[in-house]
Amino acid sequence: MTVREKVRRVAILLERSLGIPKQPATLPRPLDVLIATVLSQNTNDKNSHGAYIALRRRFRSWEEVAGAPVRSIVATIRKGGMADQKARRIKSILKEIRTREGSYDLDSLRRLSNDEIMDSLTSLPGVGPKTAACVILFSLGRDIFPVDTHVHRICGRLGIADGSRTPEETFRTMAKRIPEGKGYSFHTNLIRFGRMVCRATQPLCGECPLVGLCLFEGKSVRRRRIPSGADHRFMLLDNVAP
Ligand code: SF4
Repeated sequence: MTVREKVRRVAILLERSLGIPKQPATLPRPLDVLIATVLSQNTNDKNSHGAYIALRRRFRSWEEVAGAPVRSIVATIRKGGMADQKARRIKSILKEIRTREGSYDLDSLRRLSNDEIMDSLTSLPGVGPKTAACVILFSLGRDIFPVDTHVHRICGRLGIADGSRTPEETFRTMAKRIPEGKGYSFHTNLIRFGRMVCRATQPLCGECPLVGLCLFEGKSVRRRRIPSGADHRFMLLDNVAP
């Protein structure tokens, strides 16, 4: 089996286990996704979502956020963690966008290729490839595969990223291997899979539908009790040999 065939197999097995995620019919605007992704760094979904909602409620526009004192933004997004760093970063990003675009808006990205968008966004303060790829995927609906630390970890354990040492390397390696049209589904399912089964510590290898494909030396196939909150559908799958 080639690596590309293995990636396709993993994507199919995850879709059978978790379903095929669909993008919402109406996509959020690029700047909204950019700021939401900055707020999601180093925290969980609940806290970052809460911080984003609080920010949108407190300020009526991105222009207001850009003009607000840092301490006011910090107080608003505190529940998202690292509030001081994120508030300064958001203000720097908004200032740079205003300089480049003449407004607090990134809709001009729609006219650019993915590579051009990656170059443009990663030149903003504190914006890396994962955040830029999230903007392309979630606001423009294009076929791209963002790689965060969790996706990087799972790709490494499965042996489909050629030993890439960082999420950025994994992003570049996997870009050539994701089946066409599967960027959203594969990314979304891997995130869920990483939370429920292939966790950073004590992965539930005994319940994993990918165990026959996995090269992780620390895997243990002893069956464990599924924790509350985990998806019971993994219990229904037989482990699949390569
Ligand atoms: Fe992750 Fe274990 Fe499954 Fe490998 S066998 S993908 S380490 S849960």
